[in-house]
Amino acid sequence: MQIIVGGWIGRKYMPYDANFRPEFVPRRYRDIVARDAVLYPLVQFDRRTRSEDPRVIAATKQAVNMWRARTLELRDLSWAAAQGSADSGANPVDYMRNCRPNFVSMYPRTRTCKAWHICPFCWGRMVQTVYDTVDGAFPDTSLVEEPVAAVLDAQATTVLAAGERKRRAIVMNSGDVRVAADGKRRRITPLSSRHFPYHLVTACIRSTFSARESLPNLVDSFCKTRGRIRDIGFTGALVLTTVEHRTNQWHLSHRYLLMLSPGTVIPPTFSSVAGYKYVEHPTRREVMNAVARTCKYPRSMMVGDPKNSVKILHAISGRRLRALYGCFRNTRQYD
Ligand SMILES: [Zn+2]
Repeated sequence: MQIIVGGWIGRKYMPYDANFRPEFVPRRYRDIVARDAVLYPLVQFDRRTRSEDPRVIAATKQAVNMWRARTLELRDLSWAAAQGSADSGANPVDYMRNCRPNFVSMYPRTRTCKAWHICPFCWGRMVQTVYDTVDGAFPDTSLVEEPVAAVLDAQATTVLAAGERKRRAIVMNSGDVRVAADGKRRRITPLSSRHFPYHLVTACIRSTFSARESLPNLVDSFCKTRGRIRDIGFTGALVLTTVEHRTNQWHLSHRYLLMLSPGTVIPPTFSSVAGYKYVEHPTRREVMNAVARTCKYPRSMMVGDPKNSVKILHAISGRRLRALYGCFRNTRQYD
């Protein structure tokens, strides 16, 4: 573990920055979903060229730079979580600026900052955990891949963290994966070759308010409306609540992803909301897209006025913004 220490020179704090060096671009399902949900919206990456490794690496470095600049802005605007002191050696901003990048595997392996409400890398790790839960809940009745980790090449097995090596992995381009973690060659099958016996619904319930209103009160009352899916007999449900500032308004959204048994009735009050999408017997690619859509990173937190980002971070602090129900329920919670 690399020790990260910045330092105070007089009254000015000089941050320490790790020099991140790319190793490889991971291509497990969870990595692809995280890039779709966070990296591409954040850097406004051209979707047609996104699978090229040098472009993914360049985009990830751009995300590191954006995040580093924003941490200092947020600290200067008194974001409580970023305040260090001249008395203590460690500074929270140092950990945030050097949060271990996601999307591309990089050296050195720094710590994660866990500020997932704004850190794009920790948000990406949250997406990966959600994807694992959702993918694991959809039963595997027409398994076509071997349920073992496949990695980019033989060397990559040594650089994947032990827990990550066991994850189901896979690959978009057949040329990319040759050897699995156990050393055997694997047949690569297209993402569309697996169909799930359940149905999938995504939807977004959104409210906008004047930016003059008190955000903590808005967040309080909006969070209470999250449970309006209780009337639906879903098998599994994921709800992610986001708060953004756009065009002088607060935009509060509940984004839903539901897993339904065939025949489940959706009330019209729910099926008429924005972005409602019903997919019968989704393919794995459709499940991946649904998770990426539901967990899309709120870009305005990074590029909008940092004063609003600080207001949002303080208003959502300590509130539960992500909930899993039914068979998606998991002991791990992000609050
Ligand atoms: Zn982080």
